[in-house]
Amino acid sequence: MTNAALVLFSGGQDSTVCLAWALQRYERVETVGFAYGQRHSAELAQRATLREGLSRLNDRWAEHLGQDHMLELPELGRLSDTALTRDAEIEMTAAGLPSTFVPGRNLLFFTYAAALAYRRGMRTLVGGMCETDYSGYPDCRNETLTALAKAISLGMDADFTLETPLMWIDKAATWAMADELGGAPLVDLIVEDSHTCYLGIRSRRHEWGYGCGHCPACDLRAKGWAKWQAAKS
Ligand code: ZN
Repeated sequence: MTNAALVLFSGGQDSTVCLAWALQRYERVETVGFAYGQRHSAELAQRATLREGLSRLNDRWAEHLGQDHMLELPELGRLSDTALTRDAEIEMTAAGLPSTFVPGRNLLFFTYAAALAYRRGMRTLVGGMCETDYSGYPDCRNETLTALAKAISLGMDADFTLETPLMWIDKAATWAMADELGGAPLVDLIVEDSHTCYLGIRSRRHEWGYGCGHCPACDLRAKGWAKWQAAKS
């Protein structure tokens, strides 16, 4: 099997760091994004800009970066009925999960990605799931993804690996990882062009990037930035 990987790439901070991580390690890196009726598409709109930006930062990365794929999963949006796909407040549900949770989303993403990777001759999938600040999303847990890798490998009779480089680190360490991988130019690219805000706001600029500044995603990103800055000084 070639030294290749398919990165689940949404255009957010985490998946952008994962893409840089993969470009550093694999000779061929392709990206896949999913459109499932997100309430806003600010994140998806940043994908091309970030891919171009990463290519400009490093000649080797430019050589390694292959095709981009978009998969449409509108049924996921219709089934989920959560704060991401309709105009509802983001709050904690009775189950103790944020209302942004799309049940089983990552199970579907990885399974679709594996089907695509299989056809493209790749057996490594990379995702930005993280157990440290996973907001209670059970499909981000390492145990879930280990079991899923086994199910995919059995079900496709092929030896699949799911890489999650951010699994055990927090948002401050994610900023530090970006700095290690690509220095200030990569940190700047992530600040300027990666999107995290649940409300899709890109009109307000903070030192850590664009967003409303108070939704759970902005809050996590801002706190991680502040912690990383404090650790550096
Ligand atoms: Zn926000």
